[in-house]
Amino acid sequence: MAGMSARAPLENVALAPYCTLGVGGPARFFVDALDEPTLVDALGWAQARGVGMRVLGGGSNLLVADGGVDTLVVRMGMRGIAARASAGAVELTAAAGEPWDALVAHAVERGWAGLECLSGIPGLVGATPIQNVGAYGQEVSETVTAVRALDTESGRVIALGGEACGFAYRDSRFKSAEPGRHVILSVTYRLVPGGAPRVRYAELARHLDTRGVARPSPADVRESVLAIRRSKSMVIDAGDENRRSCGSFFTNAIVKAAEADRVAETAGDPAMPRWAEPDGRVKLSSAWLIERAGFARGDRDGPVGLSTRHALAVVAHDGARAADVVAFARRVMAAVHERFGVRLTPEPVFWGFDA
Ligand SMILES: Cc1cc2nc3c(=O)[nH]c(=O)nc-3n(C[C@H](O)[C@H](O)[C@H](O)COP(=O)(O)OP(=O)(O)OC[C@H]3O[C@@H](n4cnc5c(N)ncnc54)[C@H](O)[C@@H]3O)c2cc1C
Repeated sequence: MAGMSARAPLENVALAPYCTLGVGGPARFFVDALDEPTLVDALGWAQARGVGMRVLGGGSNLLVADGGVDTLVVRMGMRGIAARASAGAVELTAAAGEPWDALVAHAVERGWAGLECLSGIPGLVGATPIQNVGAYGQEVSETVTAVRALDTESGRVIALGGEACGFAYRDSRFKSAEPGRHVILSVTYRLVPGGAPRVRYAELARHLDTRGVARPSPADVRESVLAIRRSKSMVIDAGDENRRSCGSFFTNAIVKAAEADRVAETAGDPAMPRWAEPDGRVKLSSAWLIERAGFARGDRDGPVGLSTRHALAVVAHDGARAADVVAFARRVMAAVHERFGVRLTPEPVFWGFDA
């Protein structure tokens, strides 16, 4: 009988060590899935008992409540990478449990363009479609051509094209429209061998300029992105005081153009950073809003504070609990709302909190 086998889940497993923030309580049940049959068995086990199931990748975009979760948590450990030539492109397919940055390095080493700006992002491949991972002017939505997923409603493995993923800025159907329904098993990215890398981001262009790189290869871009990210504590480094975070805790706020004008006026700064969105709205820098609302990098409330190197990252220090992280994030949100009337949206996924 399922659940009586050697694959019976572990019970009461602490999740904090699996999360980059290093806070939060236990999973009531836990399975380390190194292959797809283990995942399918785990789903069957949970469904037979009316227990919910959640999927854990690298825990780098996750805030687990101190009380933990009353569900089965399945950690995605499936590995494997395959590449296939296809009409002038390479279709690179990786299993959900492959570490993301190693996959980027794999592509960059071969001169395959398309993922280079996404260097240095923690976590696993299977999570990249969830919030349409993006950085430095690139998002996975530009290259994802196929996602294989276990549909937990039908119990079937399905294939979705990139257009079926509902990708938007730090969002997808997996994150907001149907959260928890699909377990992503593998992702295929369409890359261009010998292609020119994307350099759309001013800070990245400046960095390449400073290095004297006129016609950058994907490897040049990776090197600059990693250097810039390191300077902001946006790569995880064991010796870094800012290492316990989820990266950006808030997405950049997207507002109507008139609203952006009003915010600039409130701030008394016509040079406020702003970027036009294709739909006519305007993306604001949430880091800038936070700093202008009165926070400085490194500000702390006890064991939780802003990163000393980036105002968007909320950092947990020794003794921090999930409740402290939430309280600090709420304070930041309230200050920005009070000062500018803009509501910040948290980026990580919250587990075990009341909606
Ligand atoms: C220092 C730092 C820098 C960061 N920089 C960036 C950045 O530049 N850009 C960016 O977009 N993000 C960034 N992040 C956030 C994070 O790394 C990414 O969102 C990453 O893709 C999360 O991967 P993960 O495997 O850790 O997911 P987890 O945190 O384990 O999970 C996140 C969510 O995805 C779900 N999920 C995970 N795997 C699967 C799967 N196989 N199937 C279905 N659901 C799944 C989980 O259930 C959860 O809801 C950063 C984080 C840190 C700590």
